Amino acid sequence: MKTNHFLLSTVKEVPADAELISHQLMIRAGMIRKLAAGIYTWLPLGLRVLKKVEKVVREEMDRIGAQEILMPSIQPAELWHESGRWAQYGAELLRIMDRHHHEFCYGPTHEEVVTDLARRELRSYKQLPLILYQIQTKFRDEIRPRFGVMRAREFLMKDAYSFHEDEASLKETYDIMYETYARIFRRLGLNCRAVLADSGTIGGKITHEFHGLAESGESLLAYSDVSDYAANVETAEAVMPSIVRQPAAKKMELVHTGTAHTIEEVCNLLKIDPKQTVKTLIVKGREQPFVALVLRGDHQLNEIKVAQLDAVASPLVFASEADVLKTVGCPVGSIGPIDLNMPVIIDRSASVLSDFVCGANQTDHHYRDVNWERDVVLGTVIDIRNVEEGDPSPDGKGRIRFARGIEVGQVFQLGTRYSTTMNATVLNEKGEASTLMMGCYGIGVSRTVAAVIEQSHDDKGIVWPDAMAPFHIAIIPLIKDIQDETSQKIQAMAEKLYEQLMQAGYEVLLDDRAERPGVKFADMDLIGIPHRLVLSPRLGLEQVEYKSRKSAGVMMVNIDQVIPFLQEKTG
Ligand code: ATP
Ligand code: MG
Repeated sequence: MKTNHFLLSTVKEVPADAELISHQLMIRAGMIRKLAAGIYTWLPLGLRVLKKVEKVVREEMDRIGAQEILMPSIQPAELWHESGRWAQYGAELLRIMDRHHHEFCYGPTHEEVVTDLARRELRSYKQLPLILYQIQTKFRDEIRPRFGVMRAREFLMKDAYSFHEDEASLKETYDIMYETYARIFRRLGLNCRAVLADSGTIGGKITHEFHGLAESGESLLAYSDVSDYAANVETAEAVMPSIVRQPAAKKMELVHTGTAHTIEEVCNLLKIDPKQTVKTLIVKGREQPFVALVLRGDHQLNEIKVAQLDAVASPLVFASEADVLKTVGCPVGSIGPIDLNMPVIIDRSASVLSDFVCGANQTDHHYRDVNWERDVVLGTVIDIRNVEEGDPSPDGKGRIRFARGIEVGQVFQLGTRYSTTMNATVLNEKGEASTLMMGCYGIGVSRTVAAVIEQSHDDKGIVWPDAMAPFHIAIIPLIKDIQDETSQKIQAMAEKLYEQLMQAGYEVLLDDRAERPGVKFADMDLIGIPHRLVLSPRLGLEQVEYKSRKSAGVMMVNIDQVIPFLQEKTG
């Protein structure tokens, strides 16, 4: 490709609404343009990169025998009613109506469609296991689309679905898929970590997420400092503290705390550590109107863990100020677990406290030196908090550390979540109908592009790993005056080299613009081409100057040696 005929839409200014470096660089390099909130056009340069991700994903899916299909992006509401997700999915599902008043949605994922396909096409256990996949545009009406294609509304996903006769076969494919995901991200040059995760609205129990490690990542990951344990903080278990609860030392006492309502204010007033307090939160219950949750003052509630409890309404809804005043008889800042007229769920770490401070369920009052069992019933004790750095790792080995990650993929063992509700069966060996076991496996193809940039850039622009680069090599002839004979020779030499490199299988960008050298260098650095070759009258007709995007120094290479030289560089 020659720059004169290529839509190289680089811009100098940092776009005002782009917080993340990947978002800034994708706009500045001319990879994407925004059409509407969370909806983007991929320009030629960006699309070349997106296709690189697709290529690696396809090769790896095909390698494990997965078969590519293409399902529609518009899906009929009936299938979602069958699975129960029409009601469950919420506002992220873009619901649309056709001229006959039939309801549809724009697919955010394809479990329903693929399960419908499977129940129509699969007859016998002999056809199993089967893996189908597609690379396709999804739409999720994200509440806060941001960071460019990182959290878009319209985005490209690879989604795969597997069908099995039994759990053992599902597990086998799950493990293969897990290994394949690790391989895909390795090939793409992304520093990635697999973690235990929560399955959200997709369903199923066993699931792992793959995260590109980056400070800017939206996900917080907990890992052990000595073992392989790693989990999304959403799901990482906070284990029962090993300490035994100390016997009560003091008598319970009611104290006037006035305008001190938050844990911090109460601790300042009473000159105590937040670790010696508990906080009580009230949420809507499933059967009872309200349920109280008690945590140590310095701990954070884990909403995902709580929403999974039988006693608690899902999705999680906090009681309003008015609800609290009506049911407990005091404002939110004074609630405590003593004599509460609702089920009380106590976090493990709060359950081992003694002589602690809590709200008194009386306006502007707290109790101090409260003790479980003596002063307050020790109700259900369960893990409802976020793990913290320094906590013991749940596998019993080492302590928890935190890292941030960008979720680029997730694998799920769905089991029969969709096949039961949608009645997808095959005949087993005995000729009986047997419900299909399923797995599903997603990769954020477009998000992966942004994740790689988050990990791989410098102050000049993007630094592509070879596998992702839109072009492998940039050829920059520096010609001042094309009337000049030497310049004409340099021009011819550049054209010849361009042809030769393409014949050798490289994707080459020849910068034939009449721009100053500084402009050309800056653009090629910004768009991140891994290998740069400069030709100029100063260097003569025998040699070219080579520079890698990853290092500062340049090297002279004899013109006849360019191809073997690059072959060595690109492995
Ligand atoms: P997130 O937690 O980031 O919202 P998710 O867990 O809802 O993602 P999945 O249902 O697991 O997403 O979808 C598979 C993959 O699709 C994700 O791992 C992610 O890489 C990608 N993806 C999901 N939502 C978006 C989005 N809004 N924009 C870009 N990629 C996305
Ligand atoms: Mg996910």
